[in-house]
Amino acid sequence: PASSSRKESDGDTKAPLPKGVVLDKDGKPCRTCTSVAAWRNLTKQAKADSSSSPSNTTSTTPTTPLAAPATSSPSTIPPDCPPDVEQLGRSTWSLLHSMAATYPEKANTEHQDNMRGFLKFFSKLYPCWVCADDFQTWMAHPSGRNQPKLGGRKDFGWWLCEAHNEVNRKLGKEEFDCRFWEERWRTGWKD
Ligand code: FAD
Repeated sequence: PASSSRKESDGDTKAPLPKGVVLDKDGKPCRTCTSVAAWRNLTKQAKADSSSSPSNTTSTTPTTPLAAPATSSPSTIPPDCPPDVEQLGRSTWSLLHSMAATYPEKANTEHQDNMRGFLKFFSKLYPCWVCADDFQTWMAHPSGRNQPKLGGRKDFGWWLCEAHNEVNRKLGKEEFDCRFWEERWRTGWKD
């Protein structure tokens, strides 16, 4: 993840990890925090290391099967492989925005409490831990301005759009115009 360079390897006594590879809390590369492109560079490095030094068993060598078919593009993952940070993110945003799209126009207390609880646990359990940490920090802004707005669909959808834009900005992506979140995620585009 672009903003998470502090969590990327700063190199140990062995060869530094390729740019963009994020380590998990146990010090091993975190697949769900890393793009497939960076992951493939890691795989190449691990192969090169092992062929130049057959007895080398560094702790950063991935233990899962990582090699992609030689014919596949470096930025795509075969459909039956574990997700990288981008695929996981796209799927998750689809879920979250769809939850906003089906949220009641006016939510009762129980519905609001359920969603608040979901977001609290989601932000702790999201499989890319660096993403989760940053998302929690954003939600807990001391001013209280980023707390989930759960009164009804419009407020919640807009809040989620802003949350997504926060990540977009962090990653250097274009911001989405939140006036159109409902067309994107609920009604479909007007002709
Ligand atoms: P996505 O950002 O996944 O968006 C999918 C679609 O949503 C877009 O095609 C667009 O149609 C629509 N969309 C875009 N912006 C908005 C918006 N503001 N409101 C409504 N709809 C919108 N990745 C990292 O590398 N580092 C991180 O720290 C990180 N944190 C994340 C935190 C969370 C909570 C989540 C769910 C994901 C995070 N990701 C992170 C993943 C990242 O946000 C993207 O999902 C990923 O980079 C793939 O991006 P994409 O360009 O395919 O589109």
